[in-house]
Amino acid sequence: MNLIKVKGIVIKETTYKENDKIITLLTDKLGKISCIARGAKKTNSPILANSQYLVYSEFVLYKSKKFYYINTGEVINTFYNLRIDFDKLNLIFELTRMINSVTDENQDTEKILQLFLNTIYVMEKQNKDINVVVAIFKIKLFVLLGFAPRTTVCSNCNNPLENNVIYYDYVSNRFLCENCTREDKRRYIKISTATLVAIRYIIASDIKKVFSFELKNTADFKLFGQVFSDAMSSGI
Ligand SMILES: [Zn+2]
Repeated sequence: MNLIKVKGIVIKETTYKENDKIITLLTDKLGKISCIARGAKKTNSPILANSQYLVYSEFVLYKSKKFYYINTGEVINTFYNLRIDFDKLNLIFELTRMINSVTDENQDTEKILQLFLNTIYVMEKQNKDINVVVAIFKIKLFVLLGFAPRTTVCSNCNNPLENNVIYYDYVSNRFLCENCTREDKRRYIKISTATLVAIRYIIASDIKKVFSFELKNTADFKLFGQVFSDAMSSGI
């Protein structure tokens, strides 16, 4: 039996048989995997904590035919303060649903794991606007998946975007200057230069530093995060 050591966080758990669970783990080495947690529902199970939603652990797994099974697990972080905060937990459900829908089994998800861990760490420990944190997560997630729009010049006429009225076209995932937009503005959202600079920072920055910027007016930034991720999700 080959034992495999991985670090992973539970992004979904479902009941399987009387005492078992199937958990979806986002791991550092194996990507996203389904894993059977035998006996995990028993109160005296050694993997009771490891198999719960949002618990991050170091696991020793083995593979048998189709599934991975947990041999042992050691908790790294339970993110306890997030589990008791209903508003934050609700947002995190949305994030894990999104991760689940945009990743395939066994795809390399190491960076997505890092981003998700950083995101929930910031949500738990730092006093930041959680909707801004969520918007940053969503933007960076789709950037990691290869959907970064061009952010320096208008994608139609190549004029610099700065000091222009800037529009984001969510139908084509492009930034445009006002001259290049159509009369019917329903497919665009208008964004400020400060928001554009923030988006540029998120695209270019290392995952560890992606939350390190301040933005005074966050309304159009949050709107961009939502619109961008909705548009990208529907295109996947
Ligand atoms: Zn233009």
